[in-house]
Amino acid sequence: MKKKLYLETHGCQMNVHDSEKAAFALSECGYEATSDPLDADLILLNTCMVREKAAKKVYTRIRDLKIQLRREAGKSELPLFGVMGCVAQAEADRLFERSRDVRLVLGTQAIGQLPQLVGQLENGFPRAIEVRLSKEAEFFELQAGVRQTRHVAFVTIIEGCNKFCSFCIVPFTRGRERSRPADNIVAETQALAQQGFLEIQLLGQNVNSYGLSGRFHGSVIDDSLSDTAGEITFAQLLARVATESGVPRIKYTTSYPRDFDEEVIRVMDDHENLCEWIHLPAQSGSDRILRAMRRGYTFAEYMKKIEAIKKARKDYAITGDIIVGFPGETDDDFNQTLRLAAEVGYDGLYIFNYSPRPRTPAAAYADSVSEAVKAERFAKLQELQQRIQKMRYDRYLGCSVEVLVEGTSARSKDDLMGHTRSQKVVNFPGRPELIGKLVQVLITESKPNSLYGELV
Ligand code: SAM
Repeated sequence: MKKKLYLETHGCQMNVHDSEKAAFALSECGYEATSDPLDADLILLNTCMVREKAAKKVYTRIRDLKIQLRREAGKSELPLFGVMGCVAQAEADRLFERSRDVRLVLGTQAIGQLPQLVGQLENGFPRAIEVRLSKEAEFFELQAGVRQTRHVAFVTIIEGCNKFCSFCIVPFTRGRERSRPADNIVAETQALAQQGFLEIQLLGQNVNSYGLSGRFHGSVIDDSLSDTAGEITFAQLLARVATESGVPRIKYTTSYPRDFDEEVIRVMDDHENLCEWIHLPAQSGSDRILRAMRRGYTFAEYMKKIEAIKKARKDYAITGDIIVGFPGETDDDFNQTLRLAAEVGYDGLYIFNYSPRPRTPAAAYADSVSEAVKAERFAKLQELQQRIQKMRYDRYLGCSVEVLVEGTSARSKDDLMGHTRSQKVVNFPGRPELIGKLVQVLITESKPNSLYGELV
């Protein structure tokens, strides 16, 4: 009988993609996925540290799962518990100390070692851990045909980050930048097109650094292989994927403002299958705070990139991230952020209350902005964004948009749900046979975070 894996994913698309890699690695040693923790031989939590108190939440989740297992299944022998993702990387063996139930800790570069580590546990070892980070780490290559996402496929192009923004834990949990060889990326996108995927999303913490600083260090480094070793720019990679993959919709995330250049916009304008969505996190509008965050650009420099996007041939949707309440942020600094949000006119904005992350430089700064003030600023920025977003969404009224149908709507079983090329959620009445297809929808209603329409 096959062993069962229950894998719970928290966080961003990168974690969703890591989970599919982990499920694939474990399928090689006899594990099949289950959606029921009561059925599982191995429970793996894929964790994220963007939200506050991430580690604490892992312990709470393990405790809750244990209570559920004991109550509902009357299990005296518990399944193996493992933790992967950023919390595993940051906490490492502390996870063993703080929870006797955790038996496996898997760092962000260790997915390929999962079968050996699980094998050790099955052979009686009490614990297994791998949390080394290395610039030379190989990419875990996911074989075609084992995807867990059905309609949109994620493709890693670069891992890690070299930016060391003062608030951010990513360089510590995901290591230094490493670009994946361009040929492997292109081959994967071609295989996905053959499997029938209509949309792919290229992933990286900082996609614009592709090929710049984190050149691939495989077993062979050969300059004559520059084009095949990931040593082309992000714009060149986009052009290659656009022309060689045959995928009708290509998106990517996340861009880093300092490295985002006009060449990328030119390439996006030139290829119809590169979608009209750019996620460009500003984090703040205040030059003083941007400097303290070590972002490497000013308000004016960020706005110059935005102006270039707005002048482009295609009509791009711009989304972003903002942190409110960074140490030392005054009312005046925050007003600059409001000004930036108003001038950009984001189609969507993720707003975060600042919270210190272990090992980051900002964690040593006095966390001077009270939680009450952070909450107030959060609400004010959100209120502004809602007004802007209404205008941005209203402009689709009466227009026909292309939607990739991804499933039925969570709200009504008569409605289908999908995303536009500009990454907006659209609901519309339709038959389930349309799931997985590209359709045209006439937008009749705009809601705060979605559009509504009818099939054309
Ligand atoms: N690569 C992205 C970038 O350009 O910075 C970072 C990805 S991070 C996982 C997603 C978002 O979480 C960041 O853009 C930032 O807004 C937010 N974030 C990161 N660290 C944070 C912290 N210490 N406190 C609050 N928000 C944070």
